[in-house]
Amino acid sequence: EIHVRDLYKSFGDNEVLRGIDLEVGQGEVVCVIGPSGSGKSTLLRCVNLLEEPTKGQVLVGGTEVTHPDVDIDAVRRRIGMVFQQFNLFPHLSVTENLTLPQRRVLRRGKEEAARIAAENLRRVGLSEKADAYPASLSGGQQQRVAIARALAMGPEVMLFDEPTSALDPELVGDVLAVMRMLADEGMTMMVVTHEMTFAREVADRVVFMDGGVIVEDGTPAQVIGNPSHERTRHFLSRLL
Ligand code: ATP
Ligand code: MG
Repeated sequence: EIHVRDLYKSFGDNEVLRGIDLEVGQGEVVCVIGPSGSGKSTLLRCVNLLEEPTKGQVLVGGTEVTHPDVDIDAVRRRIGMVFQQFNLFPHLSVTENLTLPQRRVLRRGKEEAARIAAENLRRVGLSEKADAYPASLSGGQQQRVAIARALAMGPEVMLFDEPTSALDPELVGDVLAVMRMLADEGMTMMVVTHEMTFAREVADRVVFMDGGVIVEDGTPAQVIGNPSHERTRHFLSRLL
C-alpha cells in the first residue's frame, strides 16, 4: 500500500505540493483528478522518486522510500508506472520491450523473461503482436504493451498518469478495460485521469487536487456525484 504524509515539493519558488496526506490501501484504486498544474503528476512522481520531495514522507508497502538511505532502484522495481506517452523502445519488438527490463533490472534469464513477457501480453490481449514493432501498433495497443511491460516486472503498486489522454477516442476503451481488469485482480493503483466514467465505476476513492493540496477525498459517489467544495463542482462542471 501507499502512504503519503505531509508531502511538500517545490521547484525553486514554485511550491507545487503543499502538504499532501493520502493513503492507498492494499488492493485499493484511487483516482486523482484536478485542473492542469494542480500537482497531480508531481505527486505520482514523488511516489516513485522521479522527483525528490522537499519535505514529508512516502511509504510503499511499509518501506519509507523517502528515507535518505533507501535504495532508489529497489524502490522503483516495486512500483510500475505508465505515462501518457508510451515510451516503448522503437527499435525493439514487443516481446523484446518486455524482456529487456526484466533481464537488465531483475537479472532474469532469457527463458523466464520470455515466459513472463508472453503471460503479460496475453493479459493485455496482445499475444498476436509479440513479434511486431511499436510503430506498427495503434496508440491503444502501444499503451497496452507499456502496461504489460510494467506488469512483467511484478510491481506491488501501479501508478498511471493520464494513460489515455494521448489516445484517439475509439482506442481509449481497450486501455481502460485492461486497467479495470487489474483493479478487479486486486492491484493497488493510483490513477491520474480525466475519465470520469472510469473513476466512478472502478475507483474505491477519488481525490480532487487543486493548487497543490487535496481539496476533497472520498468515494466516487461523494466526490463526483455530490462534491462538497465549490472548487470541485467548478472543475467537474467544465468536464461534463
Ligand atoms: P496537468 O493536468 O497539466 O498534467 P498536473 O496537475 O499534472 O497538470 P504538474 O505537472 O504536477 O501538474 O505540475 C504542477 C506545477 O509544477 C506546474 O506549475 C509545473 O510548471 C511545475 N513543475 C512540474 N514539474 C516541474 C519541473 N521538473 N521543474 C519545474 N517546475 C515543474
Ligand atoms: Mg500531469
